[in-house]
Amino acid sequence: MLGKEPETLLTHAGNAPEKNQGIVNPPVYHASTVIFPSVAYMEEGAKQPYEGVRYGRYGTPTSRAFEDAVAALEGGYRAVVTSSGLNAITTALLAFVKSGDHLLLVDNCYYPTRQFAEKILSGLGVTTSYYPPEVGENIADYIRPNTRMIYLESPGSFSFEMQDVPAITRVAKERGILTMMDNTWATPLFFQPLAHGVDLSIQAATKYIVGHSDAMLGVITAKEEVFWPLKTIAAILGVCAGPDDVYLGLRGLRSLAARLAMHQQHALTVAEWLSRRSEVVRVIHPARPDHPGYHLWQRDYHGSTGLFAVILDKVFDKEAVTRMVESCRLFGLGYSWGGYESLIMPFFSPPPRDCTPWQQEGTLLRLHVGLEAVTDLLHDLEEGLKHLHG
Ligand SMILES: *Cc1c(COP(=O)(O)O)cnc(C)c1O
Repeated sequence: MLGKEPETLLTHAGNAPEKNQGIVNPPVYHASTVIFPSVAYMEEGAKQPYEGVRYGRYGTPTSRAFEDAVAALEGGYRAVVTSSGLNAITTALLAFVKSGDHLLLVDNCYYPTRQFAEKILSGLGVTTSYYPPEVGENIADYIRPNTRMIYLESPGSFSFEMQDVPAITRVAKERGILTMMDNTWATPLFFQPLAHGVDLSIQAATKYIVGHSDAMLGVITAKEEVFWPLKTIAAILGVCAGPDDVYLGLRGLRSLAARLAMHQQHALTVAEWLSRRSEVVRVIHPARPDHPGYHLWQRDYHGSTGLFAVILDKVFDKEAVTRMVESCRLFGLGYSWGGYESLIMPFFSPPPRDCTPWQQEGTLLRLHVGLEAVTDLLHDLEEGLKHLHG
């Protein structure tokens, strides 16, 4: 019997040494064909084709171990592992919206989610409109008679607005509208979407779950009512993930709590330090009391992670900011985040927005604060900031 606390679950879920000669970690199953003992067995299995071990694409003991561990952490019925975080998002959307339906997307969502709605769903007859992240219960004003799904992401992974998740899911539930949420920033350790009324929770496991910048992976956790429709469509779409990457996800879970505690602490320290620098006009971090969504973070979240942003003074032009980021040695310039290492990403043009135009002047710098010693990180930023001035 596993303990109830998430740290204990993280440490043991999916492991069964007694079934594997005492070896702590489960073996990695590489599989396509699964040999059946009889025709009767084969025919019996075909009644529930996506259950059990029948074909590599539908699931193996390796994928099931990872799915069950994440589902337990998210407090869901079951989960579906996918080949990337974006694949988790597109699979969950394709499973539940159809021609004639309307999708409500949060205006600050991860950009490829927006592209999927505009380039793929539009061609399938699904209309998309956007709502402000800070809408709360006024989401009702954006709902149309054919709204099928409300998509949440909190905080936004560029601008970090917090959403009032329970207020939105309450309205959705009253009207029979499904909700899904990209929960990558918080991970299931710091926020549990399903407990706040969301039907489908998405993790880009590429980020904190894998945690070492060496695999692409996604996972969708579902409530019982929506799991089988989701699993069926995922199977029909051919969604599956490579066994070695799934294993890296499972292994990443073991140290997730320890890594996040350090990311959290380091990011808060770096954010505080940056807030006292004259080059910085604003720090955008949901776990700081000056953040407009701080009360929501405090009410609903158990912690904060390593990703936040600052706005630089508008006197620093693209050339100055380029000098700055290129002179950082520890903060690398690169996509993604959630690995052990620190990253810095400048955004020189305003993000695409529909109903909440980006008003802030000055370059937004997004930082992912890693596991390096904070003193070294502060020193790196201090050297970098000098280069803003020429
Ligand atoms: C990175 C990211 C994704 C996509 O994950 P991939 O594994 O890169 O496909 C989705 N949502 C958020 C918030 C992300 O940061």
